[in-house]
Amino acid sequence: MKRLLIVMLIALLFTGCRSRMKIEGTPEFKADIQQGLALIKEHSPEQYKMVLENITRVYLDDKGFNGIHTDRSYSMDKLAHSQYAVYDEYKPYQIAAVLIHEGTHAKRIKDGTARLKEPYEEELAYNAEREFLKQFNNYASLAALEYVELSYQAWKKQGK
Ligand SMILES: [Zn+2]
Repeated sequence: MKRLLIVMLIALLFTGCRSRMKIEGTPEFKADIQQGLALIKEHSPEQYKMVLENITRVYLDDKGFNGIHTDRSYSMDKLAHSQYAVYDEYKPYQIAAVLIHEGTHAKRIKDGTARLKEPYEEELAYNAEREFLKQFNNYASLAALEYVELSYQAWKKQGK
């Protein structure tokens, strides 16, 4: 009986780790993404599943575009990465939030429901970030939430 439980536990761990999402970039970047993923996995299993199953690839890029592509890969801009990684406590919250944001778009691209040019699409992605961050109440999570609101306001202004 004990052995069966152990086998089941190992099987469960493997399913949990199975990911088609590739991570490409510097060792620091890869570690940051893994840390963000671990935070999502621990606190929001549904969103964790969404991110892993829908984003095909996360990579560090220097072309100035921080966002999801139609092939559901996410290019994280170097400048954005340096902002997210501004200090250690904050970094996992911010990385987790942005993965959830892009995962929301990626899921809808996969489902064929994404309307990437419409405000509604961004509203959904920002709400998913808020939903994740609002379950915490520490200095770093609140700072990350503040960043979400600032970037949301910037996006709203840009749209007008
Ligand atoms: Zn977006």
